[in-house]
Amino acid sequence: MTLRRLGYCLLFATLACAQQKKNRTSPTGYSDTPVLPGQKWKVHDIDRPRPAIVTPGEQPAMPPSDAIVLFDGKDLSHWLEEGGKNKVKGAPATWKVENGYTEVVSGSGSIYTKEKFGDMQLHVEWASPKEVDGTSQWRGNSGILIMNQYEIQVLDSWNNPTYADGQAGAIYGQWPPLVNAARKPGEWQTYDIFWEAPVFEGAKLTKPAYVTVIHNGVMLHHHKEVGGRMAHRVVGTYAAHPAEMPLGLQNHDTLVRYRNIWARRIGKYDQQ
Ligand code: MG
Repeated sequence: MTLRRLGYCLLFATLACAQQKKNRTSPTGYSDTPVLPGQKWKVHDIDRPRPAIVTPGEQPAMPPSDAIVLFDGKDLSHWLEEGGKNKVKGAPATWKVENGYTEVVSGSGSIYTKEKFGDMQLHVEWASPKEVDGTSQWRGNSGILIMNQYEIQVLDSWNNPTYADGQAGAIYGQWPPLVNAARKPGEWQTYDIFWEAPVFEGAKLTKPAYVTVIHNGVMLHHHKEVGGRMAHRVVGTYAAHPAEMPLGLQNHDTLVRYRNIWARRIGKYDQQ
């Protein structure tokens, strides 16, 4: 057995072990992390004020005519598996599909679209488990991984204290949502995300990414500058990548459901 193969085996054993655990707890913040550039707060700052709670209205959105429907509740044919137990990177996604939704399968890895996107409008509906299990970041943690690396956090943020820049709708590790518009555990929630991709010339960043996020009809970010890739306990930075990249849904080893996922390419209209 090669060292790499042995490493994979150990990783899968660890993941399999992790999925058995219940009632896990997670820190509600940190005080030993670096200060975010241009902000007075540290990454995941335990003292950062948490967003005010706003009660959203009720209205899911169906795809318009120019949308690429990435998940219509029937199958995951648009999605590939990141990796995981007995799988190779790029294999068909195997999250559970039933009753019009797909659900994270522990240990199976995140999933990514076959299609690649730059500037985009994205609609996603998600629900955290009705049964609350765990605290802070161990409650319905997933994420919208734009361009495979910039995370809009998915989390059960209903009465769940956690660091502000890790709440639902946060630009993870960078900017908290303006408010907390979370629905109760088990209820379907919507994200409408408007993404302006970063621009690189060679290895150099010439324009950062910007994002607007609407959660259950409530604006969380408006053309917010993204500081870099998703990172945990360190400051996220940029690394050059192609102009279009897959969209990902994060498997953070906690149950989350998704349905009605569609995207619109915005760049093609900019060229007119
Ligand atoms: Mg996450």
